[in-house]
Amino acid sequence: ASIDLMPAEAPRPNRVQDRRAPQPEGPRDGFRNAPDSDPSIAGNREWAAGIRDRMAGSRRGEATRDAHTLRSADEVDAAIDGAVAAGEGWRGLGATGRAEILHRVGDALEARRAELLEVMGSECGKVVEQGDPEVSEAIDFAHYYASGAALLDEVDGAEFAPVRLTVVTPPWNFPVAIPAGSTLAALAAGSPVILKPAPQAARCGAVIAEALWEAGVPRDVLRLVNVEEKDLGRRLVSHEGVERVILTGAYETAELFRSFRPDLPLLAETSGKNAVIVTPSADLDLAAKDVASSAFGHAGQKCSAASLVVLVGSVARSERFRRQLVDAVGGHEVGMPWQASSRIGPLIGPAEGKLKRALTELEPGQRWVVEPRRLDEAGALWSPGIREGVKPGSAFHLTEYFGPVLGIMTAETLDEAIDIVRAVDYGLTSGLHALDEDEIARWLERIDVGNAYVNRGTTGAIVQRQPFGGWKRSAVGAGTKAGGPSYLFGLGTWTDAPVRA
Ligand code: GLU
Repeated sequence: ASIDLMPAEAPRPNRVQDRRAPQPEGPRDGFRNAPDSDPSIAGNREWAAGIRDRMAGSRRGEATRDAHTLRSADEVDAAIDGAVAAGEGWRGLGATGRAEILHRVGDALEARRAELLEVMGSECGKVVEQGDPEVSEAIDFAHYYASGAALLDEVDGAEFAPVRLTVVTPPWNFPVAIPAGSTLAALAAGSPVILKPAPQAARCGAVIAEALWEAGVPRDVLRLVNVEEKDLGRRLVSHEGVERVILTGAYETAELFRSFRPDLPLLAETSGKNAVIVTPSADLDLAAKDVASSAFGHAGQKCSAASLVVLVGSVARSERFRRQLVDAVGGHEVGMPWQASSRIGPLIGPAEGKLKRALTELEPGQRWVVEPRRLDEAGALWSPGIREGVKPGSAFHLTEYFGPVLGIMTAETLDEAIDIVRAVDYGLTSGLHALDEDEIARWLERIDVGNAYVNRGTTGAIVQRQPFGGWKRSAVGAGTKAGGPSYLFGLGTWTDAPVRA
């Protein structure tokens, strides 16, 4: 398959500047990030305990997949035709009419926060502390894109026409924020949506769809589908009636989609192999804490997760940082999400293939600083692993594993560390822990990723403040960032507006 990749040396992608449309700064008027549930408030701790109780009770609950499953090519075609036909009415509401409904979606998602957390835990193994900010992010997407819709009408000299149909194929690792965000963006831009949740997260998808419908998005404008047969999935994403496919998933999945249809209008956020550099000027306590949570939150199953830490100079030579890191990781108890003590939940399924090997095998010259242990029969629950002695060019340096295993690398200088980080094919997130201003400036100048974080973990991008999206093999056909001012611009086309005398 041929894929349009952003070359490693590409300038910061910003398609908006390629068009004549000036880039608006994005919704600011009244936009506020939704607050997470503060666990220091006793009532919130009780509320979370109630969610975990229900999670335990519902973990074998029936999936709601059947009702929405497409079973034949005709059903796929009918879903596409129906959604395209419904688009006219949706566009006809205008940006203001759509925004009003999408703001209500934000409120409907907030009202379902507990239900979403329960389903994320029972279906995808997400612990409440990890799921809660994800629900906030979904709510943020609703309000942010709703406000952004109006900007599409405000660009002088250009007219925006939304795509006629968007298919959204999200992953299971952020089973609420990603399907909700992609769907809400397309709806805000004026496109009807067919949402096909990840099979492992079908109930999460259903709860999101219910919130959207309840808030006033017509059922044929947002169509929820499940597709089990490969051929039908292929038909859905490669159908000529589909004018955008928003995919979040593995790079290989983007390649597969492109092999179905070479001119597939894909907006894909794909894999990552993300590193944090720690220099001698860093606040090492903060660095250890951030690396531990970035590597092991949600068992490392985030595109944004840190999977390498590169220690520079004296940090590499002393044992101090390693000890701090081991301590920080020791505080992350592993268990099922309905157990109150769990900070790291299970993998989405038993560790297999390359992940299993990364949890059980070392390459020559590597040692376990913390050896991962399998904690259940099924092989889904693993304690975190940290290996050191990872050499440039080794498999561990370059491969995405998507699980709870971190590699330590070392470098003499910051520039050498940056070379190590730049050598990977992906470019999603990256972290620097350093307090020296010159080091920070040098790193920002050279690092080639979409989201570059200084003195902060690499996960949990916040809508509007940290628009999210990758470079290199972390993005295919993209160039705009989710939760940023130009994302909606990628969901339609611009033409010159008629000149008015
Ligand atoms: N947006 C998420 C974050 O910043 C990552 C999304 C993903 O893993 O695909 O952590």
